[in-house]
Order: sequence, then structure tokens, then C-alpha cells
Amino acid sequence: MIIVVLGPPGSGKGTRARLIGQMCQVPLIVMGDILRDAVSEGSEEGKRAKGYMERGELVPDDLVIGLLEEKLRRLNLKRGFVLDGFPRNLKQAEALDHILRDEGADIDLVLNVVVKDDVIVERLSLRRSCPHCGAIYHLKDKPPLKDEICDECGSRLIQRSDDREDVIRHRIMVYYKETKPVLDRYIKMGKVVEISGELMIDKIPDELKKILHERRLFPVDKLTIK
Ligand code: ADP
Ligand code: ZN
Repeated sequence: MIIVVLGPPGSGKGTRARLIGQMCQVPLIVMGDILRDAVSEGSEEGKRAKGYMERGELVPDDLVIGLLEEKLRRLNLKRGFVLDGFPRNLKQAEALDHILRDEGADIDLVLNVVVKDDVIVERLSLRRSCPHCGAIYHLKDKPPLKDEICDECGSRLIQRSDDREDVIRHRIMVYYKETKPVLDRYIKMGKVVEISGELMIDKIPDELKKILHERRLFPVDKLTIK
């Protein structure tokens, strides 16, 4: 079961990817998190990626493709995974196809999370995330139970340094220029289901479950979401 979640920054793709991973009990791969970890570890990859991320540019393809390959090597591809933040341009999409084809695997579903541009900026400025476990919060729509503390692991929440208005606008532009063609490619391949990024948070699990059932991707029925 291989699912790719696409959408502009702040669409809520991360929240949905995370839920699907939990529902289907498959690993979640978040390219942005892999990169942020590399930056905070100060690895060679992290040093190379840092400036691009701060400016809201795409990190070079060879770097992200290498990181993805490394991550996938440690997983059982046949069990599947959910991918958030990759592929972000056509070159990456072709690289992913290639990797999967070599393993006799294929993408089952591409979820495209749709949201209006003006919603994005407001939303990202209220976003907080857990640097430890990756949980995502929204100060208005999904606040943590305790101020500034992650419900799931107790770490102190952070605001990402690229969630600044000028960088957000640049990331949106990069999305339309680079990532939109990836979406069009998957639409032609018949893999895309579109979902709204503006649904109330408590309605999201049922919506996802319905889509997964329709595609025979078997989500677990009882899910405890914290
Ligand atoms: P968002 O989707 O909210 O912009 P992400 O956490 O997915 O945030 O990505 C943050 C940053 O990490 C991007 O702006 C970019 O610099 C870098 N990045 C993430 N995924 C990729 C990728 N597949 N290719 C190139 N750069 C990436
Ligand atoms: Zn946490």
C-alpha cells in the first residue's frame, strides 16, 4: 500500500498523511522532517539543505532523492508507506517511479489536498509542531491540551523558521511552478483523489476512511486518535 499525499504548504497534507499512516499501520515518510532532522544534526546533507529551506526553495534533487532511497532501503516496501513532501517536481516523480518499479511496487493512490491560497498564510502562522515526534497543532483549530507542549510526547512545541509570511508566499509559488506538474502527471495516470483541506478537523478521519475503503486499502476500523 503506497500512498502519496500532495498539496500546497499549509494545506493540511501533513495531518492527513499522519492519520493515514496510523489507520493503515504503515510507516510515514515526511521529507520535510527528514531534512529538518538532517539540519539539526548538522550532517553534510543538512548543511547543504539549510539555506534552500530557509528561503523556501526546493533542496537539490540529488540530495532529497538520496535521502529517500536511504529511508526506503530500511523499510519493507511491500508493506507500503505513506509519503508526504515527495515528489515535489517531475524529476523526483520519475525517480520515485524508477525506485518502485525496480521493486515491483507501484503507487496505489495520490491524495491531493486542495485549499485556497489566502487560507494558507493564516494557517501556517498559527501552526506549531513537535520537533521530537512530528505531531502538528494549530493554535485555533487544534491546540495542544497544555500550552506549547506536545500531547503525544511532552516535548516543547516550536514554530518553524520558514513559517514566515514572505517565505510562505515563496513556498506557495514554488508549489505552483514545480509541484503542480507532478499532480497533473498523476491525474493522467488515474491515481488522484481530491480532498478538501478545509474540512473541520474531527471530520477528517471519516473522510479518509471512506476513500481508503473505496480504493480497497483497508484502514483499521477502530482508531484512537489523540
Ligand atoms: P511545506 O509543505 O509546508 O512547505 P515541508 O515540511 O514539506 O513543508 O518542506 C519544508 C521545506 O523542505 C521545503 O520548503 C523545501 O525547502 C524542503 N523540501 C521538503 N521536501 C522536499 C523535496 N521533495 N524536494 C526538495 N525540497 C524539499
Ligand atoms: Zn511530540
